[in-house]
Amino acid sequence: MLVYMSEEWLRLGTSSKGELLLYHFVDTHCHIDLYDDPKKIIEQACQQGIEVIAVTNAPSVYAYTRGLCRGYANLKPAIGLHPLLVTERFRELRGCKSDFVQSAFVGEIGLDYSNATRSQKYDQRVALDLILSWCSNGTQKVLSLHSKRAVGDVLAALSPNVPKDVKIILHWFTGTTKELSKAVGMGAFFSVNEQMLRTKSGRTMAMSIPQGNLLTETDGPFVERNNKPISPVDVPRLTREIAGIWGVSIEEAAYRIHGNFQQCNVVQ
Ligand SMILES: [Zn+2]
Repeated sequence: MLVYMSEEWLRLGTSSKGELLLYHFVDTHCHIDLYDDPKKIIEQACQQGIEVIAVTNAPSVYAYTRGLCRGYANLKPAIGLHPLLVTERFRELRGCKSDFVQSAFVGEIGLDYSNATRSQKYDQRVALDLILSWCSNGTQKVLSLHSKRAVGDVLAALSPNVPKDVKIILHWFTGTTKELSKAVGMGAFFSVNEQMLRTKSGRTMAMSIPQGNLLTETDGPFVERNNKPISPVDVPRLTREIAGIWGVSIEEAAYRIHGNFQQCNVVQ
């Protein structure tokens, strides 16, 4: 099995307390299967020692993504159904229960009310509740959740259903301060991307998220820079920005974020 071939992923630094650090970077939400050349993206992520949760938007592409990730210990394939695709692809959930039950990583799932009709919202909630019931089977899991304009309902769906061995990552979180506190109280993590940091509200959110609950993501290839999709190798740049917000070195920020990710790093 190919693990970390390059030594670049192991970098030494020094923490604010003078401890020697060993750190690397994490992309907890990337759509690897949607790049023009996914294999190239994977190879680059491996060479840079970046751990990636390879989320998917529909169960029908999970097998392909799992195949792409096979043999790479730093790539974690996740089975998902994007809320914006629920109405069209709900039928894909049929026959997929065992994949959801067995996969250690699940996403992208959630709710998106930004442009949804009442019946689409209903469909999304039915799908989310069904998937969450499959994820509550006593095994360790990590869920990457979308909650655009629907944070209250996502948290409501999670509250009664999610056991302690399921780690929640709220991706591109845009909730209120009250919703942030509620989610933190539930032990949720929050994955921040560089597009968020380009807006004032996104930077404020990144500053408000407790440092022990923050993770990094690209949401590539959807997030672009200069009209080009970003990819996992852009995480060090993002980590540097977060380090600036925290007022620490990039080594320190990477070390802390990786420590947060280790709490989500379940055995597959
Ligand atoms: Zn996404």
